[in-house]
Amino acid sequence: MPEDIRLPPADPAPPAPRGAGIDWLVPCPEGLYCPPGDFWVDPTRAKPRAIVTHGHADHARPGHGAVLATPETLAIMAARFGPDQVRGQPLGYGERLTVGDVSVMLAPAGHVLGSAQIVITHRGRTAVISGDYKRRADPTCPAFEPVPCDLFITEATFALPVFRHPPAAGEIAKLLHGLDVFPDRAHLVGVYALGKCQRVIRMIRDAGYDRPIYIHGALAPLSALYEDLGVPLGPLLPVAGRARADLAGELVLAPPGAVADRWARQLPDPLVAVASGWMGVRQRAKQRGAELPLVISDHADWDELLQTLSDLRPEETWITHGREDALAHAAAGMGLHARPLRLAGYGDEDDDSPADPAGPQPASTEG
Ligand SMILES: [Zn+2]
Ligand SMILES: [Zn+2]
Repeated sequence: MPEDIRLPPADPAPPAPRGAGIDWLVPCPEGLYCPPGDFWVDPTRAKPRAIVTHGHADHARPGHGAVLATPETLAIMAARFGPDQVRGQPLGYGERLTVGDVSVMLAPAGHVLGSAQIVITHRGRTAVISGDYKRRADPTCPAFEPVPCDLFITEATFALPVFRHPPAAGEIAKLLHGLDVFPDRAHLVGVYALGKCQRVIRMIRDAGYDRPIYIHGALAPLSALYEDLGVPLGPLLPVAGRARADLAGELVLAPPGAVADRWARQLPDPLVAVASGWMGVRQRAKQRGAELPLVISDHADWDELLQTLSDLRPEETWITHGREDALAHAAAGMGLHARPLRLAGYGDEDDDSPADPAGPQPASTEG
């Protein structure tokens, strides 16, 4: 592509929805449709053919006729929906596949295990759909790879200047420090079942903590799957059947719904921590009952979003999944053409919803 189209215009005109000449990706209420490939990306309803960026419930739905995704994402979907619910075709990172009239490649998104950006090339133009992503190191998945493109479709979960996530290792250190200060209290950490749970456990291990970590039953299947897929988590024990006194001074992980539930009453004097990007917002931490809010996010914060736009300088940017207008405004200030996509239906399973809607079992059923 010519180099000059990446330069900011001298006179910043209002951004027009030009689509970088790409008219072969169509934003629809139920997701993005690619006519020349005849597939949907992360459709919110069952479709004949879907490419799925990652396993969170707002992106991966059951019942598609055929699913193209990384082998890890297919394994996660099979674990959540049942193996017979996912007719999948695996595509590894960096491999190319011709689908109809387009070429498809998957690139690491750094969000959760298996998460991928979808790279679609057609008639010499390339579109990248980020899915959810972050730029920080995550010991449970490969790092986000910037892929040069004409059209970049970015998430915007934390697209406000107030969202600047601190280094996650410092948040883990706060948690472990709590065990020293309150050796008689169970330290109960609210984590989502897919991704956050395993990342927090892995970071606790990397900080040198090798005692058993107790987990709610809803966290067990995906943690076992992560281990099967090559992410060692160290000794994990079920909370169920444990005497109350045994849990004093121990780390206990549970889905956020269980943390706020009577389930937590079986723990001795629990010190409640919640690991989420939203924990930087005092009101949210209070709502979740977090005595120790841990700002640990699997989404890009404001600086990471702007860094990514600056790294890629796409001819056109579409923004979805969050604070679309704020990021569109900032992109225009960088001389980029950007527009909010306003796709409905994308919640925020991993960081926003009150409970994991697609978890293997309801949070309140475990004893
Ligand atoms: Zn996600
Ligand atoms: Zn999402």
